[in-house]
Amino acid sequence: MEKKVLKISLDDIPPEGLEVPIEDREGLVIKDCFPIKTPIIGRVFLQRWGPIVKIRGHIETTLVLICDRCTENFYWPISENIDIELHPIASLKAVQEEVRLSKEDLDVSFFDGDLIEVDEVVREQILLAVPMRKLCRQDCKGLCPVCGQNLNKETCACKPLKQESPFAILKKLVVSPNK
Ligand SMILES: [Zn+2]
Ligand SMILES: [Zn+2]
Repeated sequence: MEKKVLKISLDDIPPEGLEVPIEDREGLVIKDCFPIKTPIIGRVFLQRWGPIVKIRGHIETTLVLICDRCTENFYWPISENIDIELHPIASLKAVQEEVRLSKEDLDVSFFDGDLIEVDEVVREQILLAVPMRKLCRQDCKGLCPVCGQNLNKETCACKPLKQESPFAILKKLVVSPNK
């Protein structure tokens, strides 16, 4: 199996389209961001529409993320449909403003020259599927701010610190300045 970067030349995409299997056993495309638990697998279908290349498909993997609250590793399964358009970057200059405006709504990306970097597309889709807030579970109790105990596993003897907003703390200071 090829371990090189998966690039498809425009000329290799026949009029009826090209199916490309994704078999990334070692998570190479995402390795520098997240370790993976299960290989990235799936397939994409490339089709040319004039100067545009449409990519559709599906990818699956499981990443290893670190919980923002308790710092424990947890698994994050990803199962994403891909449906994007790649526009030649040369067309970007002509329609730069227009594209910038619509980029949020449309899944549009760009390619340079005549090579489609399928790996890059897969990588982007995986990164988009990673939550901003990484929690091992919604109600993760986090670490004790005093002793560092993972409160999901065990409670500690430290005085429970109530999670208060900065305003609540401020209020307390104002109300009882002698404390
Ligand atoms: Zn956690
Ligand atoms: Zn503690």
